[in-house]
Amino acid sequence: MTETHTTCPYCGVGCGVIAKPDGTGGAVISGDTAHPANFGRLCSKGAALGETLGLEGRLLHPTVDGVQQSWDATLDLVAKRFSSTIAEYGPDSVAFYVSGQLLTEDYYVANKLMKGFIGSANIDTNSRLCMASSVAGHKRAFGTDTVPGTYEDLEEADLILLVGSNLAWCHPVLHQRIMAAKESRGTQVVTLDPRRTATSDTADQHLGLRSGTDITFFNGLLAYLHAKGALDQAYLNSHVSSVDDVLAHVAPFSVAHVAEVCGLPPTEVDRLYAAFARTERVVTIYSQGINQAADGTDRVNAILNCHLATGRIGRPGMGPFSVTGQPNAMGGREVGGLANMLAAHLDIENIAHRDSVRAFWDAPRMPDAQGHKAVDMFDACASGEIKALWIMCTNPAVSMPRADAVADAISACDFTVVSDIMERTDTTARADVLLPATGWGEKDGTVTNSERRISRQRAFLPAPGEARHDWAIVSDVARRMGFAGFDYETPAEIFREYAALTGIAAQLGKDLSIAGLADLSGSDYDAMAPVQWPVPADGPVGGRFFADGGFYTPDRRARMLAVSQTALPEPDAAYPFTLNTGRVRDHWHTMTRTATSTTLSQHIAEPFVEVHPQDAETLALGDATLARIESPHGMLVARVKVTDRTARGSVFVPMHWTGQWTARGRVDAVVDARRDPVSGQPALKSSRVSLAPFEPRWYAFGISAREPSPDCAYWAKAKVPGGWRIEMAGAQDEADWTAFANRTFDLDGHTPISVTDAARGEARLAYLGEGRAQAALFVSREPVQAARAYLSGALGAGQDAATLLAGRPGRDRPEPGATVCACFNVGVNTISAAILEGGLASVEDVGAALQAGTNCGSCRPEIASLIAQAPTRMAAE
Ligand code: SF4
Repeated sequence: MTETHTTCPYCGVGCGVIAKPDGTGGAVISGDTAHPANFGRLCSKGAALGETLGLEGRLLHPTVDGVQQSWDATLDLVAKRFSSTIAEYGPDSVAFYVSGQLLTEDYYVANKLMKGFIGSANIDTNSRLCMASSVAGHKRAFGTDTVPGTYEDLEEADLILLVGSNLAWCHPVLHQRIMAAKESRGTQVVTLDPRRTATSDTADQHLGLRSGTDITFFNGLLAYLHAKGALDQAYLNSHVSSVDDVLAHVAPFSVAHVAEVCGLPPTEVDRLYAAFARTERVVTIYSQGINQAADGTDRVNAILNCHLATGRIGRPGMGPFSVTGQPNAMGGREVGGLANMLAAHLDIENIAHRDSVRAFWDAPRMPDAQGHKAVDMFDACASGEIKALWIMCTNPAVSMPRADAVADAISACDFTVVSDIMERTDTTARADVLLPATGWGEKDGTVTNSERRISRQRAFLPAPGEARHDWAIVSDVARRMGFAGFDYETPAEIFREYAALTGIAAQLGKDLSIAGLADLSGSDYDAMAPVQWPVPADGPVGGRFFADGGFYTPDRRARMLAVSQTALPEPDAAYPFTLNTGRVRDHWHTMTRTATSTTLSQHIAEPFVEVHPQDAETLALGDATLARIESPHGMLVARVKVTDRTARGSVFVPMHWTGQWTARGRVDAVVDARRDPVSGQPALKSSRVSLAPFEPRWYAFGISAREPSPDCAYWAKAKVPGGWRIEMAGAQDEADWTAFANRTFDLDGHTPISVTDAARGEARLAYLGEGRAQAALFVSREPVQAARAYLSGALGAGQDAATLLAGRPGRDRPEPGATVCACFNVGVNTISAAILEGGLASVEDVGAALQAGTNCGSCRPEIASLIAQAPTRMAAE
């Protein structure tokens, strides 16, 4: 088997992956020990990439109005409709909505077409939802959107502050690198998050600050550092502006004031402030908890202020560190995928920048102002201002705030094109034209990770069906629209052109230069090793920024900014709860790829809502019942998880589930569209919602070899080995459970073995074929108690009807429980029992006994948490 060195397509860590095709369309996946992002490590999602390569559900041919068409006819139509719309209504009547999962070459060509040839800046990206506030904060403070540090800093720091970042689940390999440093050199780790997470379980200190109070916390830290004489006066004198104004602004933020506003014990605030003051090597990592807020840009600047004031930036083991959610969010912002930027960090509103890009591209028309950012773009579709929309590689009908309204806007747009790898998504269902794109394993190009490292994604599988690369599709449409400059044959040509453009940007005083790569031959590009920018034509490659100042403002000095927190929307009687949203460990975005993996689907199999125990008691919400969460924008239903991990008055719901996997699990349907006024990034973590029991007439759990077709008020399905598992709940009584199961599991004419208790509203049905389980259904008035992990492995296995109907294995085979370790398929019950019965006291002990946690390591925080809970469970038993 030939090895291909490529890059993981999920988070912004950008791990190197080695893929060995197996000759049957799949591949064996391992971590690349030579890649500087991960040195061979992979998390559970990366390790399961081989399971996501199948062609089931792939979009393989162009379609127009649901009918397969030739590429020629389809691209002619797309070009004609975009051209005629522009001719009639002007360039701003069309838009592209693109994605942090496009490769840099795809992004570059889409941006060139829209900004240089169509003449509009109406191209924005789903990275707007992810890190636009970091971009804006960087630009305000540094004069450039530049992450100053490198991943080595995480291993060289003595104190790491994680703010609004569940790194253990969202950037697991970086978390593993930090945990290894903690083990070897005693790095102190502190988490700052309104919610207790798997990351805070591994920290030395957790500060569960009140939602929305981050700026107060960092203003207080700056005031403390000033009061204790911990500022770097020499650095400030030489390299930073606005210092006195900002110090005067933060002076009133005493520890007592911060503690009161943030809802923290003063001693805990003081403890962290003192640690920050005395520790030279400090890294502050932040992500969506900072960025996804109505004052996200100010939050970023509150953090940057503290690092600038102490001169702790750009030196080993210190600096602010924005970690990006997507594999190529960084590449997108580098080539101008945001509606407010040109390529190569150049600015739309700057005439010299615009003219340089115009000349470089030989562009017929360029916009002189920003285009519509994501939320405004879909509002403009709804209002009819945008009449032709092209969505590439993303699923906004699920992921945008007010997702129901966005779905309607996509439907309402006169002409909508979607390029995707999957045929059935919530967004493709609303498009006029579907264009089959190549996916991971088939694509060829580059991505940039959170530390500015450019890595190659290389193809190791052929393009299936008629799928084509995104850059090729866009170039073909551009040519059909009559534009020159899109005659690319290979991604290497596009990369060279982009690299040459960064050389021009460098002459205009920009830091983003990869001009040293502008002459790569095709074979050099094929062989390109991961490289951190800058890569100038002459001079040092990669490394850190700003240790000696040299900022990209007109006076080369950084700016500190006086910032204040923006009040969150007031609770009211109708919507008394704050809704927080985020990721789970084993799913990615809208699950189009990870849900195809049976391994990844077993960690968390349906959408849930975390509710504080006192709120649950007040509302009579029992654990494992269902809750209805509503806002003025929509409604969702999710499984109740009673936990003190979330604060009173707050609830947490994961972001991933779509209409393909649940009846009502799309959390962004209820999220409002408040956004940061500077960055335009939506405040996805603080919507006002109501919470109430969803009171079905019945609950059900089922397994089926055939894909279920549920018709009931609530359902959530997931893949399991040999078939499917499904949770259901109904608003009306069912008269005949056999008829219901036959319909749902496509088993017309089959007769199950069944046990029913009509008085108690219970039914159990088992379908066996030649002694093997084909399907089973368990119905109850209360949430169904069944051994789900056992049943999820029962399909196709030899079974006797009595065991299957019991819904749990025999006494000799304990129910493993929900998967904790995805690599070795070890469940929570198995681990808990081993801890209690074997007296296991460490994650290593559990690994030695069960293998759990010994491969990718993503589950180690959960195992540590189970060990920590063991004394409580022993006391309870
Ligand atoms: Fe992929 Fe996991 Fe690495 Fe992120 S941490 S790039 S998801 S393997």
